[in-house]
Amino acid sequence: MYADVIVDIVRSEADKIFEYSFTDETIKTGSRVIVPFGNKKIEGIVVNVKTECEYSPSKVKPIIESLDPVPALTAESVALMDYMRKTCYVSRAQALRLFLPGEMRKGKVKEQIVRYAILSDGFNRSEISLLRKTAVKQKEFLEYMLENGKTKISFANEKFGSQAVKSCEAKGYIVVTEEKENRSPYLTLSAAKKDIVLTEKQTAAVNEILNTDKLATLLFGVTGSGKTEVYLNLIDKAIRQGKTAIMLVPEIALTPQMLSQLRARFGDAAAILHSGLSAGERFDEWWRLRSGEAKIAIGARSAIFAPVENVGIIIIDEEHDGSYTSESAPRYATADVATFRAKYNGAKLVLGSATPSVDSFLFAEKGEYNLVSLPDRINKKPLPQVDIADMRQEVRRGNNTVFSSALREELKRCLDSGNQAIIFLNQRGYSKTVICAECGHVQKCTECDVALTYHKEEDALLCHYCGAKYKMITACTECGSKFLKYGGTGTEKVVYDLQKMFPEAKILRMDRDTTKNKEGHFKILSAFSERKADILVGTQMIAKGHDFPFVTLVGILDADMSLHFSDFRSAERTYQLITQVAGRSGRAGNAGKVVLQTYSPDNFVLRKAIAYDYEGFYRHEISIRKATGFPPFYDIVRVMIKCDDERAAVETTKALYGELLSFYNQNKEKFRFFGAMKAPIKKLQSQYRYQILMRTEKNDKEILDTVYYSSEKYNRGKIFVSMEINPNNLS
Ligand code: ADP
Ligand code: ZN
Ligand code: ZN
Repeated sequence: MYADVIVDIVRSEADKIFEYSFTDETIKTGSRVIVPFGNKKIEGIVVNVKTECEYSPSKVKPIIESLDPVPALTAESVALMDYMRKTCYVSRAQALRLFLPGEMRKGKVKEQIVRYAILSDGFNRSEISLLRKTAVKQKEFLEYMLENGKTKISFANEKFGSQAVKSCEAKGYIVVTEEKENRSPYLTLSAAKKDIVLTEKQTAAVNEILNTDKLATLLFGVTGSGKTEVYLNLIDKAIRQGKTAIMLVPEIALTPQMLSQLRARFGDAAAILHSGLSAGERFDEWWRLRSGEAKIAIGARSAIFAPVENVGIIIIDEEHDGSYTSESAPRYATADVATFRAKYNGAKLVLGSATPSVDSFLFAEKGEYNLVSLPDRINKKPLPQVDIADMRQEVRRGNNTVFSSALREELKRCLDSGNQAIIFLNQRGYSKTVICAECGHVQKCTECDVALTYHKEEDALLCHYCGAKYKMITACTECGSKFLKYGGTGTEKVVYDLQKMFPEAKILRMDRDTTKNKEGHFKILSAFSERKADILVGTQMIAKGHDFPFVTLVGILDADMSLHFSDFRSAERTYQLITQVAGRSGRAGNAGKVVLQTYSPDNFVLRKAIAYDYEGFYRHEISIRKATGFPPFYDIVRVMIKCDDERAAVETTKALYGELLSFYNQNKEKFRFFGAMKAPIKKLQSQYRYQILMRTEKNDKEILDTVYYSSEKYNRGKIFVSMEINPNNLS
């Protein structure tokens, strides 16, 4: 027999299908194998099995070994891999890597085998007394075994010494067995099963999702409208039909909360996949899904590649979230992959959000998605009232702190009444920048063209782009002046100031710095939901999805921050962020309140957000996109040219631009914009960045192919050229 194999090498020369021969009958489409490649042995995946080969049979080499007893990849994964290769412009090996946990590919993790001691069948208590007097430990061990039965060898070794254990085995008193044991993440995680009866609206939503002849439904439900219960119900129905489910959330931080709800309802049938797990846990959870033992995959973006078969439902919660677009190669949009999988399996796809992306809402308007709305909170609880605090007036009144008087008063009221508050600020660290008061010099990263952020706890300057860490300065590096100013407040300083204002309050901070450790997110969130703290200060990590019943106040410190990004999506992002953060308030008993601080209180987006007028916002935004020629009406195609040698980057940009220009000149009617320039961040991690930016007609395969294949020719040596389609981040 012969096999078509993709080898795990990301080099364009290796981006082909290679033929090998085999006799091992366990080898099938999807099997992981080791094959000879040049003079090396390389891992690969069988993507097709056949009886004849195209290459001359005498030259075809045999597969060296098969790595798993059952194929690691499903037939669907192999088909999806091929689809991604064609639509996302990735090599076969790059696509392949999406489907296997990284540590499995390199064979670094194996199943966890645990060894146990069991007393031999014929063992009799009287044998203990026959042991030599000095064999105290052996006697103790055997007594223990008589009392407790099956015991972990590792435990026995520790307690009685490995010598004693070995002797008992040698004498035949005990036998050692080996068992595969799953490493399960979040073992302590559990939730009581809520006995919830769906409301009429929720039931109608479930039915509409299942009965529509459309593949995908946009579930547009305000925060707290009970979308999660709708998801759980849909998953339940799928499982009852013997099918599987994929449930995606935008942030790793949200997976434990969802997992606990799934476990409460479905027990071990839920498995979690995300990069924050240990290698062993990920490996085991992955195999639990692959083997069909677990039926529900939950995770962030990459869990869309979960190895489940016979999928009945795919849910993308908070579908508008930017994290669903992969920003580095392989670049893909999760909804596209989900659409492929839903089609392949005849499954339903649900995209849920209180603030749908304008792209998705347009799809719903055009009828490509089925639109289902949940316009009210559960029990008709009102959405929290949002008060605007005009920070210009605060400054005029002489308040130079980051807290408006309104927020301060509300905080006091909230804490006095024993409730909890959330303070949101999208800036971590202590101060955003350090500026010289004399010459105005801003401390920058030497590797990147960005300002450094001061972190007080570490007493260091950190680059938020490359992670580089510098010693804090005591004097300006340009003029030597000792007068340094801090510009812009970060979460560390907010906690510091709050603690001064409310010395009694317990405050938690959640941002990338406090969640570095394994299960770090989980620990902070559970402490807060167990009311071990009164205030939670955080970045956008705390904006999404969390359900804290005792939060009655949300403070948004700087609502304008994201408005002023020079990105066509900044209005949309601001609207979403405000609605999402505000939605954390007043979800259970008490009415919630939100204080939104801004320097532009009359801004249209803010006005729409505080009125919860999504459709009003959407109409306005979509008309602007249409008039100006931006997505979802046109595609943004960006070619990024990076090199540590600026001249080489410029030359490459010029050459590629010249080549594309002739194509542009022949196809001008398809372009709204075509130009080459420095990227907004002109240097990152020592690489100079130039770009060719285009706005083109949507989904034009000819343009995309031309741009991609031209760019690839220049992607050589130390020059990195890559193409992005509608990137989320244009910096
Ligand atoms: P969303 O995901 O839309 O923000 P959730 O699903 O988290 O909303 O629901 C908000 C709150 O309402 C949760 O505490 C949830 O347990 C509760 N809830 C949802 N559906 C019902 C229902 N049918 N009856 C009672 N409570 C419900
Ligand atoms: Zn200076
Ligand atoms: Zn840097």
